[in-house]
Amino acid sequence: IKNVSKVFKDFRGREVTAVDNISFEVNPGEFVTLLGPSGCGKTTTLRMIAGFEKPTSGMILINDVNVVEIPPWKRDTAMVFQSYGLFPHMNVAENIAYGLKMRKVPKEEIEKKVKAILKVVGLEGFEERPPSSLSGGQQQRVALARALVVEPSVLLFDEPLSNLDVLLREQMRVEIKRIQKEVGITAIYVTHDRTEALTLSDKIVLMKGGKIEQIGTPEEIYEKPESKFAAEFMGKIN
Ligand code: ATP
Repeated sequence: IKNVSKVFKDFRGREVTAVDNISFEVNPGEFVTLLGPSGCGKTTTLRMIAGFEKPTSGMILINDVNVVEIPPWKRDTAMVFQSYGLFPHMNVAENIAYGLKMRKVPKEEIEKKVKAILKVVGLEGFEERPPSSLSGGQQQRVALARALVVEPSVLLFDEPLSNLDVLLREQMRVEIKRIQKEVGITAIYVTHDRTEALTLSDKIVLMKGGKIEQIGTPEEIYEKPESKFAAEFMGKIN
């Protein structure tokens, strides 16, 4: 992400700078979390990486290609949403197969891939179930499987656990980390929850008011906050 900014016009026509000239790198296989309070610009940043929003300025490079003009479905990214976003009229297997069908993958290969990915997310035997018959955690696993099955370069998570109750959130946090490591995929994860950020991440990008406050490992951000904001947000005040 190189010098990326995003300016929106609000309903009165006034300009709002949601993201203000930010730059950071994500290495292959790394788990990077965009962390910060409500309105700091983390979701807008993720949506620009996915291609749902176009930066006002700056570059987004995936495997050294600037993707700013490339539509979302050609970007080699996949997103897991807070609200799961499953198709209610399709069963679990059909939901997961959707992206592969769109890419014209042969039927037998789709079946193999769906079966394999269901195993990874711990939902073997759930192929025929409609999403409405699943718990929140199970639906989020289907959403994760649907994103993983297309083998994207980057997996994007938009607050994927915030609709789950506390206990399930903890279980799914552990599961997401296990799966990310097992598959070895690069992940960018948006949250305002510092515990999630500290436990999941290789690197945290701490944001405030559209800008980056600090980038570092969980240990660095927690132990050596570089600003009063970072110290207060991470709960460490010396
Ligand atoms: P949250 O955790 O509440 O989702 P966030 O850190 O993800 O917050 P963003 O959703 O990226 O923050 O929003 C950043 C700023 O941009 C906010 O001030 C928001 O009101 C503004 N904004 C976001 N999307 C739009 C839009 N489509 N039109 C106008 N303003 C927008």
